[in-house]
Amino acid sequence: MSPDVYNSYMAVDLNKLKSNFEKIRARVGSGVEVIPILKGNAYGLGGVGLAKFYAGTLGSKMIGVAHVREAAELREAGISCELLVLGGAPFNNIPAAVDYSIQTTAFEREYVDLLDREAEKQGKIAEIQIKINTGLNRIGVKPGEELTNFVRYIKTKTHIKVRGAFTHFAASHIEDHSLTLGQFELFKQAIGEIKACGVELDYIHACNGCAAVWFSEAYGTAVRPGNLLFGYDNNEKPKNALGVEPAVTWRCFVTQLRTLQPGESIGYNRYFIAKEPIRVATISVGFGDGYYRPMLMGGGFALVNGKRCRFLATSMDQTWLEIDGVTNAALNNEVTLLGKDGDDELTVYDWRKFCGESIVFLSSIISNRVERVFLS
Ligand SMILES: *Cc1c(COP(=O)(O)O)cnc(C)c1O
Repeated sequence: MSPDVYNSYMAVDLNKLKSNFEKIRARVGSGVEVIPILKGNAYGLGGVGLAKFYAGTLGSKMIGVAHVREAAELREAGISCELLVLGGAPFNNIPAAVDYSIQTTAFEREYVDLLDREAEKQGKIAEIQIKINTGLNRIGVKPGEELTNFVRYIKTKTHIKVRGAFTHFAASHIEDHSLTLGQFELFKQAIGEIKACGVELDYIHACNGCAAVWFSEAYGTAVRPGNLLFGYDNNEKPKNALGVEPAVTWRCFVTQLRTLQPGESIGYNRYFIAKEPIRVATISVGFGDGYYRPMLMGGGFALVNGKRCRFLATSMDQTWLEIDGVTNAALNNEVTLLGKDGDDELTVYDWRKFCGESIVFLSSIISNRVERVFLS
C-alpha cells in the first residue's frame, strides 16, 4: 500500500512538540528526566514515529508505554532507549519483555517468580519497577508491611533487578490538590521503606503531565507526561501554566456536494430530513475512522474554508456536513476536524464540549485508517 493514499490524515507539528517538550524540561529542571508516555499509539498520533522523535531528536533516555506489545513494536522499529511498561502485564507477555529488554511493572509475587524464571532461561537479568498503590487502587503494592515483604521477596530472586519505583495520582488535574498531596505522603513513606531494605532506585517518579505542571515537590528523578507533550494541559487550575500549544491537526476531504430539497433526507433511516433547501457536503471520514459517533450525531462541527459547519448525519466511513455558510466550497476541499483553518480553530477541548468525553478517550480511539504525517 502506498503511504500517500488516505481518506483523512493527522498532521503532527514536530516543532511544536519540541517547544512543548522544552517548556516541560525547563519547568522540571535539568536534574529531572522527562519520560514521554507514548501509550495507545502515542494517544493516537503514531507511536513509532514519535518514539523515534523523542529518543532520537530530543534525546529521551526512557519512553513509557502501557503494553509489552507496544514496547516490543518500538524495539522492532529500532528504538534502543530504555522502555518502561506502566500497566499490569498478563503472563504471556513475560518472554517478550525479557527478550526485548523491556522494564515492566511489578507488584505481585507470582509475576516476579515467572519473570525471574524466564530471565534465567534466557540468560538475562529482567529489570522491573515497583508500582506503589497510594490510592488509585488500580495496580500496585501498599506501603507498609505489604511493600517491605514484597521487596524482601524480590531480593531473593537472582535474575531480577529493581530499577525504580513509582505511583500514579488519581486526580492531579483538579483544583483541590488535597488527594494528590495525601498520595504523595504515602509514596514518600514507600520510597523510605524500599531503601531501608537496601534496594537502590535509579528512577523515582509520581507525576503525570498535570502534576508535572504544579507539583515540584513530587518530581523525584523523573516525570511522566502524556497529553501535555501534545499541547493539552488538563489542569483545572492553573490553566496551561506552561503555555504548551496543540500540535495536531486532523483533516479529511469533501467527496460530493449537493442541495437537498424540502422533504429529502440523508443518513440511514432518514436521520436528517430537510425542511428547506440546504447545501450538504459528503466528507471522507466516519465513526470507523475513530471520530467518536456522538460528536457527529450530537452537535459537533468541522471547519471548511475557515467556517464552522455542523454535522448532519454519519455512517461508518462517510459523514454529512451542512455547508450553507460556505460560499466557495468545492469538491476535494480539505475539511478540518481538529486544528486551525483560517482564523478559526477546533481543539480537543471543543471535542470535549461536543460530547462530554475526556480528551484522552477521544484521541485514543482514532483508528489506523487515518494517515499520520509528521511535519518538521
Ligand atoms: C497514562 C499515564 C501517564 C500519562 O498521563 P497524562 O495524564 O497523559 O500525562 C503517566 N503515568 C501513568 C501510570 C499512566 O498510565
